[in-house]
Amino acid sequence: MVAEILDGKACAAAVEESLKERINKCQHAGITPHIAVIIVGDDPASHVYVGAKIRACQRLGIKSTHIEMPESSKETELVEVIKELNNDDSVHGILIQSPLPNHMNEELLTDLIDPLKDVDGFHPVNLGRLVQSRDDCLIPCTPNGVMHLLDWAGIDTKGKQALVIGRSRNVGMPQAILLASKGADATVTIAHSRTSDIAKQCLDADIIVAAVGRPNMVKKSWIKQGAVVVDVGINRVDDANAKRGYVLVGDVEKSANQVASWITPVPGGVGPMTVAMLMENTVRSAEFRF
Ligand code: NAP
Repeated sequence: MVAEILDGKACAAAVEESLKERINKCQHAGITPHIAVIIVGDDPASHVYVGAKIRACQRLGIKSTHIEMPESSKETELVEVIKELNNDDSVHGILIQSPLPNHMNEELLTDLIDPLKDVDGFHPVNLGRLVQSRDDCLIPCTPNGVMHLLDWAGIDTKGKQALVIGRSRNVGMPQAILLASKGADATVTIAHSRTSDIAKQCLDADIIVAAVGRPNMVKKSWIKQGAVVVDVGINRVDDANAKRGYVLVGDVEKSANQVASWITPVPGGVGPMTVAMLMENTVRSAEFRF
């Protein structure tokens, strides 16, 4: 068996297409959806991600303001920027690109973002509403992108055993909640660095979402025949033969495609979905003004 590709690029293009009408409606109401993206420091990967987000805005006619701050910026300076953006009625979404420099407290800064502008969906108000299965929250982009991708491919999660590897605030935890929520109806196990036998947990799973950040950690031999594999991981691995001196690999061995029924490519799987969901959240934030 060779797995079918869960094509995040194609699904993201479909999401973008569906957003165009909503953006038009905003514009007819005199509102141009507008996201402010704050990046602090020179992390090269962060600049690549921000570039992809800004290009998506340009494709869709969403206004983006790119705020670059030096690594040496004080936390109080970033607090001031967030406060200004909260008070600026022309800005609908605020995103602080992760990671922040070590001297900044990411959680504290996220807490300061107006929850209605929290397009990352990381504010406790939005995460709390997600736990309550309310539909008035902004959902974290990556796990929401995974749910959209599964739905788009016609993959039924109801009654399935799902394993989420990773329990981060931005991916693993909200992913588990979304998979277990009413409508998705999967039975979910969460694995993490203290889980004793991940290989066994994987072999029991109909759906695996790997969000760890360890290249090729999940082995082909851990995958049950016909399982659905969603690889969230994006890891840079040095490769002298590659044009940039590195290649991007996921958390799952590529050869898992010989066992799985569906698998996401890396890159081109979850990454484009994250960007598409950010665009969706930005449009939703603008729609809150109607
Ligand atoms: P994170 O905050 O570092 O969390 C990693 C999680 O993996 C933690 O819960 C950790 O467990 C768990 N873990 C670490 N080593 C493990 C092991 N040996 N066995 C089992 N679990 C282990 O990372 P993240 O932000 O969730 O991101 C995870 C990956 O997804 C990264 O590669 C990141 O680049 C990628 N990512 C991709 C996208 C995208 O759009 N495609 C978006 C976001 C993130 P503990 O809690 O016990 O430490």
